[in-house]
Amino acid sequence: MQPASPRLVLKPGRDKSLRHRHPWIFSGAIARAEGDPKSGDTVSVVAPDGAFLAWAAYSSESQIRARVWSFDAADTVDDQFLQRQLAASIARRKRLLGEGDAMRLVHGESDGLPGLIADRFGETIVVHILSAGAERWRDFWGRALVELTGASSVYERSDAEVRALEGLPHRVGAMLGTPPSRARIVEDGIAYDVDVVRGQKTGFYLDQRDNRLLAATLARDAEVLNAFCYTGGFSLSALRSGAKRVTSLDTSEEALELARHNVGINGLDASRAEWLAADVFAQLRKFRDQGRRFDLIVLDPPKFAPTEKHVPNAARAYKDINLWAMKLLAPGGHLLTFSCSGAVSADLFQKIVAGAAADARADVQIRRHLGAALDHPVSIHFPEGEYLKGLWLQAA
Ligand code: SAH
Repeated sequence: MQPASPRLVLKPGRDKSLRHRHPWIFSGAIARAEGDPKSGDTVSVVAPDGAFLAWAAYSSESQIRARVWSFDAADTVDDQFLQRQLAASIARRKRLLGEGDAMRLVHGESDGLPGLIADRFGETIVVHILSAGAERWRDFWGRALVELTGASSVYERSDAEVRALEGLPHRVGAMLGTPPSRARIVEDGIAYDVDVVRGQKTGFYLDQRDNRLLAATLARDAEVLNAFCYTGGFSLSALRSGAKRVTSLDTSEEALELARHNVGINGLDASRAEWLAADVFAQLRKFRDQGRRFDLIVLDPPKFAPTEKHVPNAARAYKDINLWAMKLLAPGGHLLTFSCSGAVSADLFQKIVAGAAADARADVQIRRHLGAALDHPVSIHFPEGEYLKGLWLQAA
């Protein structure tokens, strides 16, 4: 007889979120674990009366003690099951975005694959493994992604801080094949070289694709400021659509160097691009002292609030940069302002920006609420997946 798989029995009343198909089971909801599960093992999760709720990946160290693979008792979590999930995730992108060579193929929980992120950059796929459950299937992901996409290499960038919460060490390196030192992608007609080995996160922020297109529509003949520019995403969009001048700020010299290189490979007019290795907080104040004004400002800072407890400090930082950016807006100027902190809700972010506008005495209107591109879906059962939020504001 097959040994019964280990199982988690929930406390009375703690089955509600699973019945609503939320994919996380917190340690506090579990009455007991039976069958001695190890981190990464597939367990069944049952209500106090023994009723089946889900198949999930156990994680012994994390407060998120298990993440759901399937809500269907008839499923078996194995290579075939995961291959079907991967294939479905990739097929959804194909229907929405066509073949494209720069695309997030898997977006974790929201694609039914908790803890797995996979970004395609040309012939290379960069993988982030963020949970004990996804880690268990590490060898499988590489093989399956190559089989499903025809990519020639898979590179692992499992260096996110959240791995520590799962009891996992950082791991970076080639999984399959050898990635090029720079992977060339084309996004909306603009080429970028992506450094998958040394770049930030997976190497390129695909989530801002739609917002870069929006910036392009606002940049014609404009004085543009791109704060936190990384490898030049918004800067190149603005240059290509005829900005008068684009000033870009980042503290990373390495990112700025790649940004300049990206201007070159597109044959854009480098004399209209100014790159400053500078701290945005200080530089915005300097621009104010110098009397500089901008018709379009993009604020796309790093995650100021990695967790809930960082929110108060993050709120101060968001307020500060937004306040100073608003002081630099020319009459009728546009501000595209973002937060990628999951712990800062869209509602809170808007309140912070409203506070900044009040203190800056800026009369701005909301033109549109902004979010991540289509290949970064948010499952309706997993609101935590909505990490990137933004506002398009226009000054009076
Ligand atoms: N908008 C970019 C992504 C920005 S990521 C794109 O579309 O590709 C955030 C960037 O902010 C990183 O490149 C990081 O180096 C930079 N950064 C972080 N803190 C900074 C600071 N205080 N001043 C300037 N740049 C900063």
